[in-house]
This record gives sequence, C-alpha cells and structure tokens, in this order.
Amino acid sequence: MKPTSVVTLLIIFGGIAFGQTPATPVDSHIAAARTAAGLDYRATFVNLCLPSAPRGGGAGPTGRGVTAAPATPDRATWYAPPFKIFDNLYWLGTRQHSSWALQTSAGIIIIDTNFAWATGPEIIEGLNTLGLNPSDIKYVIISHAHGDHDQGAAELQKRYGAQVVMGAPDWDATLARPTTAPGGVPKRDVAVGPEGRKLTLGDATIEIVATPGHTTGTLSYVFPVKDRGRTVMVAYSGGTLTGAFGTDAARWDEYIASQRKVAKVAADAGASVILSNHSEYDGAYTKARLIAAPRQPGEDHPFVVGTDSVQRYFTVMAECATASKLRVGAQ
Ligand SMILES: [Zn+2]
Repeated sequence: MKPTSVVTLLIIFGGIAFGQTPATPVDSHIAAARTAAGLDYRATFVNLCLPSAPRGGGAGPTGRGVTAAPATPDRATWYAPPFKIFDNLYWLGTRQHSSWALQTSAGIIIIDTNFAWATGPEIIEGLNTLGLNPSDIKYVIISHAHGDHDQGAAELQKRYGAQVVMGAPDWDATLARPTTAPGGVPKRDVAVGPEGRKLTLGDATIEIVATPGHTTGTLSYVFPVKDRGRTVMVAYSGGTLTGAFGTDAARWDEYIASQRKVAKVAADAGASVILSNHSEYDGAYTKARLIAAPRQPGEDHPFVVGTDSVQRYFTVMAECATASKLRVGAQ
C-alpha cells in the first residue's frame, strides 16, 4: 500500500487512528446530546451527561433533591425581583429557582413554589408588586416534591385556599413528611396519575403530562400564553437530574420514555418556549431581565426559542439519560 493510501484510509475512518478505541455507544449518545444542546442548553448537558463535573449554579442555594433548607440563606445570594414575562405569565423566581404565576380569567395558577423562605418575598410580595392579588391564587401545581419547588405549597393552601396539584406518588412522599418539615405539609388535594390530565381555570387550560423519572410523580406541562395578544405555546420540563437512579434500569427507561412523551405533546402543540424550574437550565433569571430591553420590530420574545429548540432540549435529557444508563451498566 502506498503511503498516500494509508493517509486516505485514516481520513476515511474519521480520526479513529490505529490503536485507538472506536466511539462507544456511551460516546455516541453523549455526542448526540452535545449536538442537541448546542450553546443553548450547556448546563443541562453538563449536569446530566458528565456526572463527574461539579455542578454549576453560582454561589446561591441550589437545594437539589432534598426537602431541607436549614436556614434562610443571605438574601443577597438569591433574591430576584418579579417580572411580567408574557401578557398573562409572571416570573416569581429566585436567581436559582423559578416559580410562575399564570393569570386566568378566574384567578391565578402558581406553577412551582420554592423553598419556604422564598414564599413571602418572592411569591406573595412578588404578586403584590406586579399588581396581582395573592388571594386570587386558585391552584398551586407542583412539578415534583422536592423542597426547592414545593415548600411554599402548604402556606399558599392555608392562606388563600389554593388547591395543590401534584403527581400521585409525590403526594405519598409529601404526606409522609413530619409536620415540622420546612414550609409545613399541605393537605392532600388534586393527585395526578400516570395518564396525566388537563387542568382548566377560567380561560386557561394546562395540559399536565405525567413524566416520572426525576421523581416517580414528576409532572411536566404544555400550555398557551399570550405575547402581545399572540398565542405562544410553552413546554415546561418538571424534573431534570438522574443522579439517584443507580443501576435501576426501569427507572432510567421510565425517565427516557417520559422525555419522549412530553416532547411529543410539545411538538403536537407547536411549543416554542421551554421552561424549567431551575434558571441554570432555561436561563429564566437572565431572560426575565432581558424583558426590560426594548424589542426591535420583528424581534422575537426572549423566551421564544422555536419549536426545534424545544425539541432539542428534550433530546439532551433523553440522550444523556441513555448514555448514563449504559455507563452505569443498568440492564
Ligand atoms: Zn428535584
């Protein structure tokens, strides 16, 4: 073989030099996730696909996966002012975690709360600051029963008579908590089973999609909002991390199937906005502040990323989970 032919062969084999191991299935899924992530979803990619990478998120409280937030952290590390995002959707988050208020013709739906210490300053004061009345809260939908998203539920239920909506298995986990748990324990209200459901309040309907995985009762959503009168569909990813799955293959498969399921509902609805409950994943804190910048004629809303981008978000989740499942040897 002439030397030039060897060179040609090396080129044909796309960089797999002699003596090197070809790409494994794990590598292939990670590569697919990385491509899908692009520049938009790097934190989701890193946290799900590269388990050895230290988690990002800055100096503030991240509070993943646990119910305890022992004390109120220094407000300077987490407080963020509330913002009106769409005509009828308001952001009430901290710098790290998001809560949302969907205003309807018959009251307010709160989507996710936060740690107990944020309920007053972010949700209740936030609504007042925005000219909304917390007494109008009719529903509190919890994407999953971890403290960084659900510790405000009991207080909103008690103070305003709001109905709390959760996945059935996450209700079981919540009701097993001691009454001294941070934020208290809500009384059982609306439980969503594996078939999901639609929740209608006034002129708004939220498609609730059961997406077991991050917790066994995790819920995701697809719902319309208005941007200057135009209807825009939102897909909301209710739970992200997979670190606790170990070698439980069924748990991995359930998570992967859930991402495909909600991706399809989102695609069918034409969802062009992706929301998560962590700003690390959806950039909510940064995008919320971008609302203040005047939009140029024809320029899209900062949260509108397009239907393809929404699908890529769920691809990152599914591909990373597939890679991780193979990596840990779950069968
Ligand atoms: Zn969680």
